[in-house]
Amino acid sequence: GPPGADGGAAAELLALDRAHVWHPYGPMPGRNEPYLVESAEGVRLRLAGGRELIDGMSSWWAAIHGYRHPALDAALADQAGRMSHVMFGGLTHEPAVRLATDLAGLAPAGLEHVFLCDSGSISVEVAIKMALQAQRALGRPQRQRLATWRGGYHGDTFHPMSVCDPVGGMHSLWTGVLPRQVFAGPPPAAWDESYATALTDMIERHAHEIAAVIVEPVVQGAGGMRFHHPEYLRVLREATAAHGVFLIFDEIATGFGRTGRFFGADHAGVSPDIMCLGKALTGGYLTLAATLCTSAVAEAISAGEGGGLAHGPTFMGNPLACAVARASLSLLRDGGWAQRVPMIEKGLRDGLEPLRGARGVADVRVLGAIGVVQLDHDVDVAKATAAAVAEGVWLRPFRDLIYTMPPFVTGDADVARIAAGIASAAAAG
Ligand code: PLP
Repeated sequence: GPPGADGGAAAELLALDRAHVWHPYGPMPGRNEPYLVESAEGVRLRLAGGRELIDGMSSWWAAIHGYRHPALDAALADQAGRMSHVMFGGLTHEPAVRLATDLAGLAPAGLEHVFLCDSGSISVEVAIKMALQAQRALGRPQRQRLATWRGGYHGDTFHPMSVCDPVGGMHSLWTGVLPRQVFAGPPPAAWDESYATALTDMIERHAHEIAAVIVEPVVQGAGGMRFHHPEYLRVLREATAAHGVFLIFDEIATGFGRTGRFFGADHAGVSPDIMCLGKALTGGYLTLAATLCTSAVAEAISAGEGGGLAHGPTFMGNPLACAVARASLSLLRDGGWAQRVPMIEKGLRDGLEPLRGARGVADVRVLGAIGVVQLDHDVDVAKATAAAVAEGVWLRPFRDLIYTMPPFVTGDADVARIAAGIASAAAAG
């Protein structure tokens, strides 16, 4: 355990954690002891005992401005002084109205209507519900399935799980329980005409039974950290539009500048019918997500059976989260990210490309503020993490991947340290 006067308190907390607390995808008690974090500021996590780690993960894509950003702290405190939460049924408030307006203004053309909910998985559920309800309302109730490509990840609730990569992983537990969807092969990194044709064929062949195609644009995140050619997004747009199938972009990981463009969709210049946002929406402060849709989708749903979208969570439009999200968008609107992300991209390339060809390394790839080292074997997560921590870097490898998506405010020297941490993790794990 950590030394010092608070070592006893830290040991007690870790013992209680083992006794009572679930962690993501963890057994109970956990297989590996978690690191106890006491505070976080800028790009650094401060552990019990005083050790500081550069956060290479942005707390899973979320903390793009780093921790304790003065503008975000102030927005949260200010809103807490007015109203923390009120129900959204029959009531509305400025934080939600202004945030929805901001999002509609920033989103790809045509996405004008905003459903505010509380996590990425739920925003995907809502997107799917929108697509199914709109198809029913348009007289196509038999269109209840979804299509996607392999290698994706869209969340852990049941409908999102059904469009995650079906091979391996936690979700194979649910074979036979999940709705059966339609899958194309994983999207290649390079342009491949025959893959594009296969996508179009899949949509044509299944158009009578699919409500929507759902994909992560440009980067498939938790399904394998793979990048694909943006032109496939245009292929999907054309084929779905031709057959009355809705196109859903899940920008929960890719949104808000991470890939070097404001949205992943911007790499292809296409607008989906429905789009999911989450994670960095609040700069990582609070749990908030959004599902945006076009007027055509909204009007179909509103004219259909029930007269509205069949969803309405308790914490819809939470004012604290909306206020922080607006402050985060305003930081992004200042444009600093557009200078920083290419610098981070260059720093990650410089630091990670030399690992290509190293023993155990199968691939190195960098896009925007995302750097990935893929090994030729599954990582020993505890060992790899410990090696990065010894370098003063927080990483969370999974499967055969050691990767980073650091806060946009990470300086060049810290980006170089993150790359060094990845190199150590790759050598150890
Ligand atoms: N969709 C994508 C692309 C994601 O990366 C994630 C989270 O990792 C989700 C959906 C689910 O979001 P949440 O974990 O907030 O439910």
